[in-house]
Amino acid sequence: MMSETIVAISTALGQGAISIVRLSGDKAIEFVNKSFKGPDLSKATSHTISYGHIIDKNKKHIDEVMISIFRAPRSFTTEDIVEINCHGGVFVANKILELMLVNGAKSASPGEFTERAFLNGRIDLTQAEAVMEIIEAKSEMSLTLANKGLDGVIYNLITDLRSDLINIIANIEVNIDYPEYDDVDILSNEILKPSILKLSNDIEQILEKANFGKVIKDGIKTGIIGRPNVGKSSILNALLREDKAIVTEIQGTTRDIVEGSVNIGGIILNLIDTAGIRESSDIIEKIGISKAKAIINEAELILFVLDNNQALTEEDKKLLDLTSHKKRIVIINKKDLQNELTHTFKNSVSISALHKTGIEDLENQIRKMFLSGTINLTDQTYVSNARHIAKLTETLGALQESMNSITNQMPVDMVEIDLKNAWLLLGEIIGDTSSTSLLDELFSKFCLGK
Ligand code: GDP
Repeated sequence: MMSETIVAISTALGQGAISIVRLSGDKAIEFVNKSFKGPDLSKATSHTISYGHIIDKNKKHIDEVMISIFRAPRSFTTEDIVEINCHGGVFVANKILELMLVNGAKSASPGEFTERAFLNGRIDLTQAEAVMEIIEAKSEMSLTLANKGLDGVIYNLITDLRSDLINIIANIEVNIDYPEYDDVDILSNEILKPSILKLSNDIEQILEKANFGKVIKDGIKTGIIGRPNVGKSSILNALLREDKAIVTEIQGTTRDIVEGSVNIGGIILNLIDTAGIRESSDIIEKIGISKAKAIINEAELILFVLDNNQALTEEDKKLLDLTSHKKRIVIINKKDLQNELTHTFKNSVSISALHKTGIEDLENQIRKMFLSGTINLTDQTYVSNARHIAKLTETLGALQESMNSITNQMPVDMVEIDLKNAWLLLGEIIGDTSSTSLLDELFSKFCLGK
């Protein structure tokens, strides 16, 4: 199959030790060879590295480089791939890119390398998405999940569900073609119903666990609430110091409200409105009750801070009321000081932000609340991708429709329509039946050169 040869700078634009200019397509080797002084690349065997220089049309040295060659089909895209490892300067990498364009390569669009890997059948859609998830991973656990995706764990999971579904559909087909059963009721009630129920249960369980997957991957939107001087900023600082890897860039819709992220014990807390915490001397009056409500509303977790050294005040009570409907952990801070707070609370933890004690207990509380204690990452069924979750939910809907049809004694081919729809929906997850617009949308989210 002929493919146009694409080129892009695959490394981040900026100064670094090396940059990689990557080409993929039938003429990748030829285009690089045209501007290369060194061994003849057209004779190079696959998976080898050649040393030489990139030269311009006047034979002037542009850079000293190492060229990696991956011949079709044993490459990421299954096409010929050439990677030019050049010095990591923006100008030099761009210069080499320019030469490749002049030689006839086409500028790759974002994600086009991965898209080709998918279109050429080397990876399925869930693996393509996993590539992006690895790039975006913010914690050890999310990286583990993403790597599992790349290994094909989600693909296998979906393929197993699909084959169960095909078995059910096959039962109907056989019955329509060779009616062994005089009574359609027997087919419906003894064969279809139990197997559709089992499949629905399997998907329900996957979706239940998907919440954990989502927490691991995206983190928890967290608001720190409490009246002035209870120690909110101190707690924030203590948390930030627990792990120096603070991620500030948050992808997606939460960007406007999330200020920064902190990784505590592998769980990412996306902190909402830290400015409100740092600056306000009175959370209710200064940032306003409506703003406080907005934070509370947005948050998936409220860290509610009280002062161990003071009895509960009216303001504490008001804030406790405002947050009572949320997932909430009551942090009793300043445990190093004398205990004056006589109230007890569900899900509470005593800490001293000043002495940085009790942070681990806080971690454990969060873990217990969101991951039901332990999470077993060797489990093969953690779906964490929002698109996969949505499609699985739709699939469950289609299966429920088919059950309704059975209950309402609809003709069995009506039942089959819903089941086939479920099969198509599952297919969309792995890219088997996906529409072009879906693909465009997916791959445009990739970075250039990936
Ligand atoms: P915020 O207004 O809720 O953000 O409270 P701050 O974090 O600014 O803390 C208010 C005061 O309490 C500061 O003087 C802190 O040093 C002090 N503080 C915070 N945490 C502790 C603690 O665990 N123990 C003690 N003794 N003092 C603390």
